[in-house]
Amino acid sequence: MKKFKTESKKLLDLMINSIYTNREIFLRELISNASDAVDKLYFKSLTDSDVQLSKDELAIHVGFDEGARTITISDNGIGMTKDELDKNLGTIAHSDSQAFKTDNAEQQGDDIDIIGQFGVGFYSSFMVASKVRVVSRAFGSDEAWAWESDGVEGYTIAEAERAEHGTDVILTLKENTDEDNYDTYLSEYGLKDLIKRYSNYVRYPIQMEVSKTREKPKPEDAGDDYKPEYETYTETDTINSMIPIWKRKKSDVTDEEYNEFYKTNFHDFADPARTVSLHAEGALTYDALLFVPSRAPYDLYSKDFKKGLALYSSNVLIMDKCEDLLPDYFNFVRGIVDSQDLTLNISRETLQHNSQLKAIARRVEKKIKSDLENFLEKDREGYEKFFENFGRGMKYGLYTSYGTAKDVLGDLLLFYSAKQKKMITFKEYVKAAADGQETIYYATGDSVERMAQLPIVTTVLAKGYDVLLCPEDVDEFCMMAMSDYAVPDAADPDSLTAWPLKNVGGEN
Ligand code: ADP
Ligand code: MG
Repeated sequence: MKKFKTESKKLLDLMINSIYTNREIFLRELISNASDAVDKLYFKSLTDSDVQLSKDELAIHVGFDEGARTITISDNGIGMTKDELDKNLGTIAHSDSQAFKTDNAEQQGDDIDIIGQFGVGFYSSFMVASKVRVVSRAFGSDEAWAWESDGVEGYTIAEAERAEHGTDVILTLKENTDEDNYDTYLSEYGLKDLIKRYSNYVRYPIQMEVSKTREKPKPEDAGDDYKPEYETYTETDTINSMIPIWKRKKSDVTDEEYNEFYKTNFHDFADPARTVSLHAEGALTYDALLFVPSRAPYDLYSKDFKKGLALYSSNVLIMDKCEDLLPDYFNFVRGIVDSQDLTLNISRETLQHNSQLKAIARRVEKKIKSDLENFLEKDREGYEKFFENFGRGMKYGLYTSYGTAKDVLGDLLLFYSAKQKKMITFKEYVKAAADGQETIYYATGDSVERMAQLPIVTTVLAKGYDVLLCPEDVDEFCMMAMSDYAVPDAADPDSLTAWPLKNVGGEN
């Protein structure tokens, strides 16, 4: 037996022993892996002429055996070699998450959040299973291998049989206890419900044998008093709707469906703060569905964080995270762009110079900006919370763009007003400014409380001018990059007056 790596083991412990109750997501995770595997094979077939494949054959199958207490999730995707089984299932996927986890475990003492931040993945199966067996055959290989584990110490890998390429994940469910009943997962109804709820938009059919009833044919010699008889039979049904949510009209989709789609596809356990949909027709036709998370992912401010939107061409994934679709200062936005006008076998290099993509990116940026402005106007409390999560990135973006992004970001930033004792925008600062004032004053330091007491600040306040107190390290650079804020004249909104930003000084 091979032992799990320490970090994997810790995550497994958390997963199995945590108070986290939303166990049912294990199926979503396994189906999403199956769908990824099918995607990979399909994608290969587009770029590799040796792979002959028809899209109709690709499917995910979910089955269960009540007697054996097993659930099996099968796909005919790309499969895994022996090495890949070892590497992909023996180690936690996100290698740098361990440090984060221990840091945060102490700070938050909150298992739920930690698990939520991971996108749990394959290991979530151990929340419901006492044993997991993965039988896989890599595409193009004639060997199959079985990975097996009880999720405690380690795993084994042994030779196995599988007729075709693809993967079966076989979960042996835990025994029921007084508190926990796993039997709902061993029923057609229970599994169907989970598939519809969590995996409805998976692009490939998720099939199940379902039992149905039908009337038996009427015997020829049936008399007048014949009563119809019924029989049950089983049939393979596709459970998910597959129609991508972004292709549907916004008015036909409920908030709940959007939220579920977001959580399933972007591995978040919280609903998004904002959902923005965009349909464009004309020279360039595309749909976009964008989400602002309600909290920052754990690695947002790490150098490994990758921004980007998923890019599809006619429902087929081209790229998981297309960076060029998002400016750095909106790196927190998750979502997808789907355009029938993009070709599938577009490479990363050509994408960068793709003018269609640039046009989409510009529109996406505008749309995010206007949605955030709307957010700020209509739901101040929500926006302030959003800003706590993502404001730093926007300020940083202003700085790294050397101020060129100030038209986009200038109205989205919040700073603490010494006078009003709350977070305000530049616009609000100007609106509340004293007569004759034409400068925006700010101070920098570590603590808002201490800055408020500084003589340089109280002096300015005494003159009737407000001072924005900037405690974050990025603030000073951000203010310098911003340098001024353009204010429309009351009489003639087309003519702008630039209010310079002036640092009155600071703590340091
Ligand atoms: P993630 O999906 O976020 O990468 P997971 O823990 O869910 O993390 O899965 C780990 C890895 O195992 C995947 O990245 C993939 O390489 C591999 N894997 C899991 N399930 C399958 C499958 N059904 N077919 C092929 N590879 C799989
Ligand atoms: Mg996964």
